[in-house]
Amino acid sequence: MNKQWLLASRPVGNPQPANFEWQERAIPDLQEEEVCVRVLQLSLDPASRGWMMDIKSYLPPVALGAVMRGIGIGVVETSRSASLPVGTLVQGMLGWQTHCVTPASRMTPLPEIPGIPLDAYLGVLSHIGLTAYFGLLDITDPKPGETLVVSAAAGAVGSLVGQIGKIKGCRVVGIAGTDEKCDWITNTLGFDDAINYKTTQVPAGLKKACPDGIDIYFENVGGPILDAVLAQMNLHGRISVCGMISQYNATEPVPGPYNFISVIAKRLRIQGFIVLDYMDRSEECMMQMAQWIGAGKLKYRVDIVDGLNAAPDALNKLFNGSNQGKLIVKVSER
Ligand code: NDP
Repeated sequence: MNKQWLLASRPVGNPQPANFEWQERAIPDLQEEEVCVRVLQLSLDPASRGWMMDIKSYLPPVALGAVMRGIGIGVVETSRSASLPVGTLVQGMLGWQTHCVTPASRMTPLPEIPGIPLDAYLGVLSHIGLTAYFGLLDITDPKPGETLVVSAAAGAVGSLVGQIGKIKGCRVVGIAGTDEKCDWITNTLGFDDAINYKTTQVPAGLKKACPDGIDIYFENVGGPILDAVLAQMNLHGRISVCGMISQYNATEPVPGPYNFISVIAKRLRIQGFIVLDYMDRSEECMMQMAQWIGAGKLKYRVDIVDGLNAAPDALNKLFNGSNQGKLIVKVSER
């Protein structure tokens, strides 16, 4: 039997378990060139919230009654494709389900690198790593001695961005929502400073942590944090707009940043991106990230939730900040 979470309704505010419906149904017979993948792990991403909405975006919305979209890794359990034999480890849009029947061409076989654990293939060596690597390097071109500020700094993307910034010789300041997160990014990951935005006034915190102003901002959250950073950007500063999680559950129009006017006098360059823009360069990133991990220069942590049934509840960890690292649902054992 295939166990699945279907999208039952579109959320208003934070996603609720009632927005999903559990279904169990027989796994269909395979057609020519199809495979059945048993899902091992499923990535929960802030983007999931956007995919639940009926709005035009970079991917079509998940239809009501359809299996909820999700990136996952799995193992080919049955196959009618010579290109993906039984036992192959794959990654793809497997969805919130225990088994995914799909054309083999939609799956990416994964190289099994000795010493790299399975969960790295849903984070640091996957879309998360690509987002951090290209979102920082390609868009902001950091130089040694520059000051880089990153928000959601202890999260999956942010924690990698800050460490890559350190590798490139920047002064790195992270903004995060708990003292434990601030302690982890400074004492374990080597950020130069951290600001707990829930207990510190961010403008004052930035003034103290960035005495020479801010050259680069890696934007993950939007809202008042973006406003505070804009006011302290340096001439010719660069902002990579990766995400704005503070707005994803908004039920009212969100006010624009008051300090946007800084863009003019400071000649700022602001650029958004979607990780899909960089898929054709994923090997370049994967090789570099694996090398940095091996050299002990890049660390990451994963927050693994047990069981597909827990997925709807777990999604909100991303919005209340209780995830500690890349949020993953473990669906089955290897
Ligand atoms: P994280 O692991 O960073 O988890 C999300 C974190 O966001 C939470 O832990 C919380 O940390 C923080 N957060 C939640 N609500 C708020 C808020 N209102 N204000 C400030 N911080 C908040 O998730 P990811 O690393 O997967 O994603 C980080 C960002 O990157 C998201 O905006 C996401 O949409 C974006 N993204 C963009 C991609 C692209 O292609 N452009 C691809 C992948 C991700 P805290 O305790 O610090 O509040």
